[in-house]
Amino acid sequence: MSKRIVILGAGESGVGSAILAKKNGADVFVSDFGEIKENYKQKLNEYKITWEEKKHTENLILNADEIIKSPGIPEKVAIVQSAIKNGIPVISEIEYASRYTEAFKICITGSNGKTTTTMLIYHILKNAGLNIGLAGNVGKSWAQQVAEENFDYYVIELSSFQLDGMYDFKADIAILMNITPDHLDRYDGMQGYTDSKFRVIQNQEENDLFVYCADDEVTKQELTKREIKAKQLPFSLNQKFTEGAYLENETLKIKYKSNELIMSINELALKGQHNTYNSMAAGIAAQVLKIRKDDIRESLSNFHGVEHRLEFVLKVHGIEFINDSKATNVNSTWYALESTPKNIIWIAGGVDKGNDYSILEELVRKKVKAIICLGKDNEKIHKVFGETVETIIDVQSASEAVKTAYYLASKGDSVLLSPACASFDLFDNYEDRGIQFKQAVREL
Ligand code: ADP
Repeated sequence: MSKRIVILGAGESGVGSAILAKKNGADVFVSDFGEIKENYKQKLNEYKITWEEKKHTENLILNADEIIKSPGIPEKVAIVQSAIKNGIPVISEIEYASRYTEAFKICITGSNGKTTTTMLIYHILKNAGLNIGLAGNVGKSWAQQVAEENFDYYVIELSSFQLDGMYDFKADIAILMNITPDHLDRYDGMQGYTDSKFRVIQNQEENDLFVYCADDEVTKQELTKREIKAKQLPFSLNQKFTEGAYLENETLKIKYKSNELIMSINELALKGQHNTYNSMAAGIAAQVLKIRKDDIRESLSNFHGVEHRLEFVLKVHGIEFINDSKATNVNSTWYALESTPKNIIWIAGGVDKGNDYSILEELVRKKVKAIICLGKDNEKIHKVFGETVETIIDVQSASEAVKTAYYLASKGDSVLLSPACASFDLFDNYEDRGIQFKQAVREL
């Protein structure tokens, strides 16, 4: 009898998993408690996969041999709890897909910088001619690519929610960018979140590689407690290594075995400290894969960046507008404020995930001229920064935010949308927030 695979959540990863399971001859059923998007329904029908929406029918789910859960569904929801009680293994798309491919896997996780680093690695390796796919949190689902493509390499962005459902998966190169507080609503404190991130190195052996930021306090602390089997390749802005990546004055050095790549940080396409880390991590991965140094240098210097991440929008009458809508936590906003020249009109706010704004105070005092609060409830921002910043104005739409910022700004100032908060009080998601912001800037 064929194996019954039930998929919870019919988004990109769920539908991809369903397609792969169907290809493997499983008896597949997809269940989504919300409404399934039209294009995904069509796809499921096209592959003759049965599905339900707006409900979870227990007797169609709890008869599964295995459940693949979308990373968006918290483990605490009733149906997942029932499955676990019934002894049904609950895994993630990535765990499932990994069983059906021999490809080399470069996996990126961290609190911030995942997408940027993932895209940068993809850019370098693709330009160098490798047969490589892009997967995980970005683009097309990995499972579907495993079902339909034939890539030799994959660069995979992994969120902690993906990692939570991974058990036997092994990354060939695991990259951990940083660990700063995020999603603490879904984890049992900081240690739970840290353990989740460290799953990126589970099952790694001596021949595998672990790339990490040696300046990250939480990572450093955790490394003292763990025995790491993989070869370690750290990167840092403050320390030097015989293997790994570091800075010497303005020069970036990336060393692996007897190879050394040298490049001025002024040549890097991505500016700011945080992006130097991202370039270092990507450069190490490329060195390990023996990409020619000239090719690595060229790709690191001609990368276009990713939309909504410190994205330059326009200069209007000498005022620069920057879209960093993806900054949904305080740490990413810290880097945005750090890398933007002073006299900033800072657009912040939205849904606060329990933010501690104190790490921003010094930068705000030094650089921020006015704050525009773009959120339904802005009380906390007023409370924290009321003494430091004279002008704090509440607005309720992206266009109002842009017009107000333009009014307050003088030639040479920067208007930075870097909210440090989630977006769903006033927008569909961070992309929607960024797009509305850019549109409003273009209409000035
Ligand atoms: P993720 O995929 O982890 O959310 P992104 O690459 O999408 O990361 O970037 C998210 C936000 O974090 C952006 O606002 C970006 O400017 C900022 N950021 C990018 N790289 C880093 C980094 N290495 N450390 C801290 N913040 C970063």
